[in-house]
Amino acid sequence: MKAWENNIRKVIPYIPGEQPKKEKMIKLNTNENPYPPAPGVKDVLTSFDTDRLRLYPDPKIEKLTDAIAERYGLNSNQVFVGVGSDDVLAMCFMTFFNSNRPILFPDITYSFYDVWAEEFRIPYKQIPLDRNFTICPEDYAGENGGIVFPNPNAPTGKLLPLEDVERIIAQNPDVIVIVDEAYIDFGGTSALPLIDKYDNVLVVQTFSKSRSMAGMRIGYAMAQPELIKYLNDVKYSFNSYTLNSLTIEMGTAAILDEAYFKKTTQKIIATRERTKEELRALGYRMDDSKSNFLFVTHDTISMEKLFEDLKKKDIYVRHFSKPERIANYLRITIGTDEEMNTLITFLKNYKQS
Ligand code: PMP
Repeated sequence: MKAWENNIRKVIPYIPGEQPKKEKMIKLNTNENPYPPAPGVKDVLTSFDTDRLRLYPDPKIEKLTDAIAERYGLNSNQVFVGVGSDDVLAMCFMTFFNSNRPILFPDITYSFYDVWAEEFRIPYKQIPLDRNFTICPEDYAGENGGIVFPNPNAPTGKLLPLEDVERIIAQNPDVIVIVDEAYIDFGGTSALPLIDKYDNVLVVQTFSKSRSMAGMRIGYAMAQPELIKYLNDVKYSFNSYTLNSLTIEMGTAAILDEAYFKKTTQKIIATRERTKEELRALGYRMDDSKSNFLFVTHDTISMEKLFEDLKKKDIYVRHFSKPERIANYLRITIGTDEEMNTLITFLKNYKQS
């Protein structure tokens, strides 16, 4: 072993879903939106004056921050914009989770949380979901260094009712609670109104799912101005988590098109609901989902084998081998109606040898 190896911060990396580059495939594995971004996004791209690229982007990201604030009826000092919600969440971990007490998050949840905790040397405790995969608010009490959970949860897709979210926030006034709402626009009730009432909550959302812009990398946190200021202070110190000029313009065009946003999210919800019914009719089991994916199992079919067999047909879904409790589940992103029909037809004829 080399002497300097002791000085390396070693983390078990987050393993992102596969991004196969095939011309013809059905990609239902990383919860992307099957529809293109709002038309105005393309208009920005075609009219963008590349001369602007000589200049640094606005470090305050004012244009997009203002547009997001207006969309949600907030003041601009209540919004923090970052490079995808992953970076916003990482910044939140860095900024707010600095006690010696463990932060709390569910044991079946977004698998980046433990990676950030390891990376930033934050002690953590994972709280088991109950037998119905539900987050139990009473488990998020007692001494802790902060709380983070997605709502709806991932990969289960289950929504925690707003009163339970509020209970978690209210019973932990001495620490920061982060509600990761990456999937909130597919039928969930946002905790956003709670930021007026509580000074210890941040609501984090993204352009990657409901706004079809995963490739652009835009995420944002909303909270009382005091918390947003702390995030900005850390951001300016590191100067690495900022958006480029083109992203700022394209993101602004996307947030302004409320009609398109409503139309595409409603469409995905409708496709999800009928896919759920059709899969249930085929014997698959799943809870109701309020996200753009379904978390599916079957009593006699191996989900791992099905995952491999789907892949052979260029249909990509997501299988998690860990934790053990979800090893016989698949997470299936909601695509277009046509894509879901292809999947359903395959499953109708599917027999496992
Ligand atoms: N939170 C959850 C629960 C997610 O599933 C994802 C997407 N993988 C993210 C945050 C991050 O999304 P993005 O960085 O694209 O905004």
